[in-house]
Amino acid sequence: MRPFHIIITCEHGGNLIPSQYASHFTGCEDQLESHRGWDIGALQIAQKLSTELNAKLFQTRISRLLVDCNRSVFNPEIYSDRTNRLSNNEKEEILKEYYYSYRNKVERYIRKISKQQRVLHVSVHTFVPEWNGVERSVDVGLLFDEARTTENIFCNYWKNELEKKLPDKSVKLNEPYKGADDGFTTYLRKKFSEQNYLGIEIEVNHKWANTPELNEITTALYFSLVLNFTHYSYSTFENKGVSRERVEKRKEIPRRE
Ligand SMILES: [Zn+2]
Repeated sequence: MRPFHIIITCEHGGNLIPSQYASHFTGCEDQLESHRGWDIGALQIAQKLSTELNAKLFQTRISRLLVDCNRSVFNPEIYSDRTNRLSNNEKEEILKEYYYSYRNKVERYIRKISKQQRVLHVSVHTFVPEWNGVERSVDVGLLFDEARTTENIFCNYWKNELEKKLPDKSVKLNEPYKGADDGFTTYLRKKFSEQNYLGIEIEVNHKWANTPELNEITTALYFSLVLNFTHYSYSTFENKGVSRERVEKRKEIPRRE
């Protein structure tokens, strides 16, 4: 049995604008198509992980330029320059229809499940390869809250396994962003203790979108995650004073290679 109930989410899965708001986005089609409108390739990764792990997937395909589901409601970045100028009533309507409807559904699900089993929430994103004229060297980032021991242990093990599977890629912890920055997982950490909830964001460089490497990275993420469950069981045992050797003897690594 897995030590977690896994859920996959994708907050920037598409660049759709509902028809009633389309007029506000006239002339910014290029922006909508770019990383500013959505996370290119992220939904593909999320869907594959969800299928391989048999894990529930929550996704939104509404563009972050309408409302950003990975920002808190108090964060000014929740709206783009196209929606920030709308009336308060219109903003309220957007929040209700496209923000709370998504986030509350995920939160309710975690609340229900976490009463029986610890939840591992994997939120899938991609990032732009170049920022302010500088090329980013990271290929895959695992983002977590360093103040949470459970997430720390889990991501350090996961990174090690991922590096073995992707020897020519750069895998980093809390790069290109910090996991404790404002985001959906950061919000959910305030709602659930680390005994009940681990919130980890995967960030993949979108230069790999539409290339065979994206598939390779996704497969590596899946296998390393499954393998990581075994390591995680180690640390759980070690916390109870059971030696690693004893655990080693009794475990079977669930390899599917
Ligand atoms: Zn994103």
